[in-house]
This record gives sequence, structure tokens and C-alpha cells, in this order.
Amino acid sequence: MKDKSEHKPEKIGQHFETTPVVFDDDIRFEKTLRPVRFEEFVGQNKIKEKLKIYIEAAKRRGEPLDHVLLMGPPGLGKTTLANIIANELGVGIISAAAPSIERPGDLAGILTQMEEKEVLFIDEIHRLDATVEEYLYGAMEDFKLSVVIDRGPGAKSLELSIKPFTLIGATTRAGLLSTPFISRFGILERLDYYGDADLQSILRRSSEILKVSIEDAALKEIAKRSRGTPRIANRLLRRTRDFAQIDGKGNITLEVVSTALEKLSVNDAGLDEIDMKILDTIVRVYKGGPVGVNALAAIIGESPETIEEVYEPYLLQNGFIRRTLRGREAAERAYDILRMRKPVRAEQPDLEIFNEGDKPVEN
Ligand code: ADP
Repeated sequence: MKDKSEHKPEKIGQHFETTPVVFDDDIRFEKTLRPVRFEEFVGQNKIKEKLKIYIEAAKRRGEPLDHVLLMGPPGLGKTTLANIIANELGVGIISAAAPSIERPGDLAGILTQMEEKEVLFIDEIHRLDATVEEYLYGAMEDFKLSVVIDRGPGAKSLELSIKPFTLIGATTRAGLLSTPFISRFGILERLDYYGDADLQSILRRSSEILKVSIEDAALKEIAKRSRGTPRIANRLLRRTRDFAQIDGKGNITLEVVSTALEKLSVNDAGLDEIDMKILDTIVRVYKGGPVGVNALAAIIGESPETIEEVYEPYLLQNGFIRRTLRGREAAERAYDILRMRKPVRAEQPDLEIFNEGDKPVEN
């Protein structure tokens, strides 16, 4: 098993505990905690079952696995799955972040050093340079690369044969991929947020690897507040471990979790400060919406891409916001969590603010 590339993650936004984006601090732990076989990869059962069959069939035919596109929000296990696929195929993997492949020559450099049936994993594949993407088409289809040498009228193109390989692309924004590109992948899978039970299994496994003692109730609480994301669950486990150590006893109890998460500003629903700012802006500034993503991003101080890739999917899926043709609107749970009353009619501008201790209205 080899990993020939440097995977340089990018920092987006501020260091909030529940952002699913990877931080430098996560890298060391993620290496330790990252499952290497399907047996250790919790949940996403339908995807696992299909992949196992495709892998077994490819192995029996003695061919490389079809190209795979893994889609879904950050922190759900796309990189992990790509590495597991290579492991289960028994081949090496080369990983690269799309922006690091700047020119067709960079791609040729990678592809020509790959052994037969190996995996090329390209993370953030929607950010691939358009020219590089076109070169990749030929490589994906018939394992040929056409390289142009010289410029101007004397330019010649040279056809390079490369060894059959499997491309695994990961993307948080499948909508940005062109149809010709998508059609060249034989296997397309979308990863979804994890339920509490799966997050608990992931946390149990991680606590065993990290040799941390944790109460069942504490584990459940962390799972509940992890925004359906294994990366966040593991990060919160590490942070609460710090609090438990300072506390002197080392054991993670429910009490330690509650204190730690309060200090880290992680609320009951696992929403972080940016999530809350998004909801607050839609409800208070835009009176419940609709509001376009650019306007929202300008107020929040994040890029529209980050809002769409990182924050929105969870808020949408969990009933905090709705997406309509005219923009984003606040849904019932947004009012509940902000402790505000939902206006009865859209025209009604005033929102009544609840006093502490009042129960939010069920709509
Ligand atoms: P992505 O590539 O989708 O951003 P990663 O594959 O880097 O996500 O996953 C982040 C971390 O979460 C991994 O290091 C791993 O420890 C953990 N993880 C993700 N999915 C699972 C899973 N299904 N089972 C156990 N751990 C997981």
C-alpha cells in the first residue's frame, strides 16, 4: 500500500469544533482512526454491499475496477472509502487534491508512474482545471493520453499509453461536474449523514483505539451533537478527552461532555456558530426568507461555496431551512432553535421573541 502524494487540506472559515472541514490538527488523528477494511467502516451499508460485489467481480475478471465517483458533504468518509477500495482490491493508491494537478503535464506525470490496476484518488474533483479534465477523458476511456509538444504551427501531439487504472473522484459538489465527465464514471455513490447509532459505533471504536474510557451516556451525547458527521464525532471525542484529563479523572462522563460542549459552543442539535448565524440571518434579517446564497454569504462572512457545500446540506436535511426557487427560507426547526415564533402569514413582519423558559410554539 502506498500513498505517493502530499494531501494538503485547506482551512475554510474559523476553527469551530463542529465544522466538518478538515484542520491540520485532525490529520494525525484521522490517520490513526481511519478504517482500512470494509468491516471497520461503519454504516453506509448499501454502498458497502455494492462496492464489495463490484470489487470481487473486477478481481475475478482480472480487470481494474470501473471508475468511481463518491459524492457527499465533507467528513462523511469519501477519502476513507477510496483507501478501503484500493486495499480490498489489493492495489496501491495515489492521492491528489484536484487543485494540485495544475497542468496536463502534472496529470501525465502521475498517470505514467502508476502500476496496472492501481487507484488514482482525486479529492475535490469539481475543482479540476478544465484542460486537465479533458485530458483525463481519454485516460479514463481507453487509457490513452494525448500530449501536445511544442506550440504554434509546429505543434505535434504524442499519444501515450498508460496502464489500465481506476479513478476514484470525491466531490462535495457533484452539481458542478459536467455531464460528459460524470458519464465516464461507471460507479456513482452518494454518502449520506450518519444516524446516532452509527455515530455511536464510530465513537466506540475510536475511544478503544485512543484508549479513552467513556460512559455510554457520554458517548450517546457526543453522537447526538456531531451533525451526522464522523469527522466531527471524532473531533468532539478528542476535545472532551482533554476536558476529562484536566478534570483529573480521565474518564469521559456525561457531565464532562455537557461542560465541554457548552464551553465549545456546540448546542443540543450539534449546530455550530455559523449554522446559527445562517438561521439567525434568514429569520431576523430576512424575516424568514427567501434569501439568495450570495446575500446570505456576504452577511455571514463565508463564501457562497462554503455555505452550499458545508453548512446547507445538514440544515436542509434536518428541517432547519428549505430551498425554494426564490432562495432559502427558514423552516419550523429554525424558529424553535432560535426560540422565536414563526409568523402566521408571510406578510406579517414581526417576530415575537420568547422569554427564557417559554416553550417554543409547535407549528
Ligand atoms: P471525507 O473524505 O468525506 O471528507 P474522510 O474519509 O476523511 O471524509 O473521513 C473523516 C474521518 O472520519 C476519517 O478519518 C475516519 O476516521 C472517520 N470516518 C468517516 N467515515 C467513517 C465510517 N463510516 N466509519 C468509521 N469512521 C469513519
